[in-house]
Order: sequence, then structure tokens, then C-alpha cells
Amino acid sequence: MRRRLGRTSVNLALVLLGCSAAWGAFARVELQDIRVWPGPDSTRVVFDLSGAIDHKLFTLDNPARVVIDVPDAARGGIGGADGQGIVNRVRTGQREPDMLRLVVDLQQSVRAKSFTLPPSGRYGHRLVVDLDTGTPAIPRADTGSESASAPAPAVALTDKPIIIAIDAGHGGEDPGARGARGTKEKDVALAISRRLASLVNAQPNMRAVLIRDGDYYIDLRERTRRAREAQADLFVSIHADAFTDRRARGSSVYVLSQRGASSEHARTLARRENESDLIGGVRLDDKDDVLASVLIDISQTAALEASFDAAERMLGGMGTINRLHSKTVQQANFMVLKAPDIPSVLVETAFISNPEEERRLTDRNFQDRLARNLLSGIQGYFSDYRPRTTVASGPGGPVEPVADAYTVQRGDTLSEIAARFSTSMAALRVANGLVSDTIRIGDELTIPSTR
Ligand SMILES: [Zn+2]
Repeated sequence: MRRRLGRTSVNLALVLLGCSAAWGAFARVELQDIRVWPGPDSTRVVFDLSGAIDHKLFTLDNPARVVIDVPDAARGGIGGADGQGIVNRVRTGQREPDMLRLVVDLQQSVRAKSFTLPPSGRYGHRLVVDLDTGTPAIPRADTGSESASAPAPAVALTDKPIIIAIDAGHGGEDPGARGARGTKEKDVALAISRRLASLVNAQPNMRAVLIRDGDYYIDLRERTRRAREAQADLFVSIHADAFTDRRARGSSVYVLSQRGASSEHARTLARRENESDLIGGVRLDDKDDVLASVLIDISQTAALEASFDAAERMLGGMGTINRLHSKTVQQANFMVLKAPDIPSVLVETAFISNPEEERRLTDRNFQDRLARNLLSGIQGYFSDYRPRTTVASGPGGPVEPVADAYTVQRGDTLSEIAARFSTSMAALRVANGLVSDTIRIGDELTIPSTR
């Protein structure tokens, strides 16, 4: 209210300007910090402010730049910030006595969006400016680093490899949990995710999609949207746990629960993980929870059963290299697991709040072993699972023969064999190490067990 009065007085009469400026100096919001987080298709610039603000944003060309005017604000001691990604530099200036001008110099023109965030976590009031370059946000079906140069083989649609969406938790503005030595959850989550992705990509029939591949924030709903866009068969979100008691330790694996949580810790953990959007930065008016919950009710059940299956195997894999925090798959209401149609698992790799486990989480050798054991759980799941869409029906109704092996006959195709044994082509490919769907008469195929 006081700010509004102050600005009105500026607008009303020039005579009052000096008086208003003096008053404004007392009421002004101050700029406190600037951060730049470059992402693959959007770069985020965050301005920390000492209070709530109004602002006006516009873009200019030649050279490309975004200008934000913030009335009743001052730049404090902040002269600007170095650029990253498509941002050359961020400059600040005092345009009128009461008007803070923020200028983002760019390498190219962008679509700019801005919004403010109320205080959350360790952050106070923030102004967030997202600079979209217009590149479609379709994740590449490889990690970029290890296999970007290897062209995807020209294959028919039925040769679609198993796609594993790997989601490194947090990022950018949102560091996640922190260890006593300063290790950030977002960094270890990314390191383990990248390791897992390169192991997945080394498999003949699997491709990894890294939902986040750098230090920037992606909101929780966008993470599942990207997984769906990549037609992921499994979504694995990688995190590190934390607790006030430093003795708490061990790995755990979670799947979604729309209703209660498995334990008080699970409930607290889900609440903290879901706060990511507030800390990482999501416009609060941007949510469509009603629509989402309707979708979830329709198809979540099937995906949830598969999620449990995958989670159990991954938990088993981790139990061989680290103590388990809970010996069974846990459940809680994690926002990031709400893809209604993709089996989704959240892995709390270890406790970053435990000094010994914090050290292990930053150890490359441990990261590698963790990723290998997660992969073996994932492989076990895909070699064994029964896809929910397959119904084998013969003249007398559904038939589900069970066999360990099958010899390919004249006229057989992989898809027919998959249907006959109530399994999937993907599972057959994994079980037999096939790189294509070509099979020959007399080939002996291992049939993944069905339950
Ligand atoms: Zn987390």
C-alpha cells in the first residue's frame, strides 16, 4: 500500500517528485543478487529482492536484449552479473530516481517470460525471467556426451528400444538437501544420473533420456511431460535423502501413493521433495491439478503395479552395495511420480545428511556401482514384466502358455511370439540380446517368465 501511494504521487505531479523520491528511498526494495542458470532450451535469470515488487518486461532487438523495469526499487550494490549460455551479461541501472532497470544482453532473440516468487526455503522474494530460445524441449534419446555422435540405426517403429527416462532431482535454484561438508543433492543426483544413462546407452536395446543434463531447474510436472514426450517405458528419479538425525542412513526406493505414506519419514520426504517447485521456481498460477488428478485416477493403477515391480528390483540391486534404509518399497505422494501411464520410481540413493554416506555419494566409484546396480534392477524388470496391453487370445479364449524356450518356426514373427507368450517384443529382445526384430527358423529363443 505504501509503495502504491508512492508511485501514484510520482505520476500525479512532477512538483512532488523530489519529495516522493526521498520517501521512496525509505520504502524502496533493493536488489540483492543475480543468478543465471543456462539450460538446453531455456535460460533462467533470477533476481533476489528485499521485498515484493511490480515489474514490466519488454524485449528489444539489435542487439537482442530483455529489459525489466521495477518501480520503487534500487539496485543496491549490485552492478550486474556475468553471462552464461545465451546471456552475454546482466546490467542494472537506476532509470528514474525510483525505477530500477534490469537489462539482460543476449546472443539471440528470445521469448521471455517473467514471474515473481514469494519467499521459500532459504530464498526471499525473487523475480524470475525465463528466456526461451524456441528450441523444442524434446529430450534427446541419448545422453549427449557418450553417444551423441553415434547415429541412431534406421529401424522400423516396432524396433523402438526400451526408453529409460532418468530424472536427476532438483537443479539450478533448487539445490535439494545439503550435506555437512556442503555437498548438494542436485550435484550428486546429476552425476549418478549421467552414469546410469551411459550404462543404459551401452545396452543394445535401451536408450536413456536425461530429463535434466545440467545445473538448471525443471518443474516437476514438466519432468513427467518430457518423459512422456520421449515415450519412456520407465521413469527413474534420482535423489539423496536427508534427516535431522545424522545417524539416519541407507538407500530406499519409492513409488507413488495417492493416499497415505508408508511412514512419517516418507511423508516428510515427499513434502520436502514436492517443495522443489517453490524453491526451483514455478509460477503458482500455472498448475492444473484438477485435470491431472482426473487423468491419474483413470490409468494410474496399471502403471503403479509395474512401478512396484521395477522398484523392488532396483531396491534389491542397491541392497548389494549399500545398507537399505527400508527393506521394502516405500510409498508417498511424490509429485514427480505422477505420470499416469509410465511406471515411475524415485530412488533415494543414500543420506546426504549422514557424514559417511555424504562422502560415498561424491565418490565416483560408489556412484558407478550404484548406477550399475540400478541398471541390473531395470534389466530384471524389463526381462520379466508382462506388458499391461498384451492379451493373448486363441479360439478357446485367452491362452497364456508358459515356456522357457521356443524354437522359431516358418512364418513366425517376433511380435506374434511375444503375443503368444504374453510378453513383449522389448522383453524378448532383452532376454535374447536381439538388436533387431529379425529372427530365423530354428533360432532358440528364451522366453521371459510370466507370472
Ligand atoms: Zn530430492
